[in-house]
Amino acid sequence: YLRLEGIRKQFGNTTVLHNVNLDIREGELVTLLGPSGCGKSTLLRCIAGLTDLDGGHILLDSKDIVNLPPRSREIGMVFQSYALFPNLSVSENIEYGMKMRGVSKEARRKRSAELLELIDLGEKRDAYPQQLSGGQQQRVALARSLAVQPKVLLLDEPLSALDARIRKSLRSEIREIQKKFNITTIFVTHDQEEALTLSDRVCLMNKGSIVQQGTPEELYAIPRTEFVAQFMGSYN
Ligand code: ATP
Ligand code: MG
Repeated sequence: YLRLEGIRKQFGNTTVLHNVNLDIREGELVTLLGPSGCGKSTLLRCIAGLTDLDGGHILLDSKDIVNLPPRSREIGMVFQSYALFPNLSVSENIEYGMKMRGVSKEARRKRSAELLELIDLGEKRDAYPQQLSGGQQQRVALARSLAVQPKVLLLDEPLSALDARIRKSLRSEIREIQKKFNITTIFVTHDQEEALTLSDRVCLMNKGSIVQQGTPEELYAIPRTEFVAQFMGSYN
């Protein structure tokens, strides 16, 4: 499981995350929903170790990972804009993290072939990122993050740059892969429909705090504050 305890983060004098607490079961998919600037990306970056915390603990299977460097955290992350290495081929991108961790060439080849099949891009293994569509690039980014077998997957609006049709099909593809590997996942979006259809649980954030969490149905049907009602109500 993943447990966030009292996460606090400020940039200069501005507190961006106020005492965020969250428990996520193994294999659960939680979406973080909320308006622009509420702190979603910052929270993911803190969990991944790309940003230092100003307070709090991050427990992964009861071990505090706050002081571990990103590479030792067993956490994979996919960003909104395609962050593939442009000068590496698809298979080299997927194998990069394994190479850094000293995985043998043979084992890397085997794993990347499996992942390429999973994302249905076997024939693109030697292509370069700029030769792929946006949806294909995000599938490669997903495969790359899964290659090192992380315990937790963090997805920061991975679909927001894609058109509606691709978005929907990739959304169900992500859910299938997530279930298949039973991987604990936080999925950031500001799209209510995406949150409602995809997740086991939704956390709605506002101004650096989680204001309500529950199943998609609960948030929609029993909003605890005006903000939640308005935010969920704008779904349509
Ligand atoms: P969006 O939906 O637009 O992606 P978000 O919820 O992901 O928004 P964050 O990117 O986490 O929001 O930003 C939260 C707040 O922190 C914003 O006010 C932002 O301006 C501020 N912020 C983020 N990164 C930095 C930084 N490196 N330095 C200073 N302020 C920052
Ligand atoms: Mg963001």
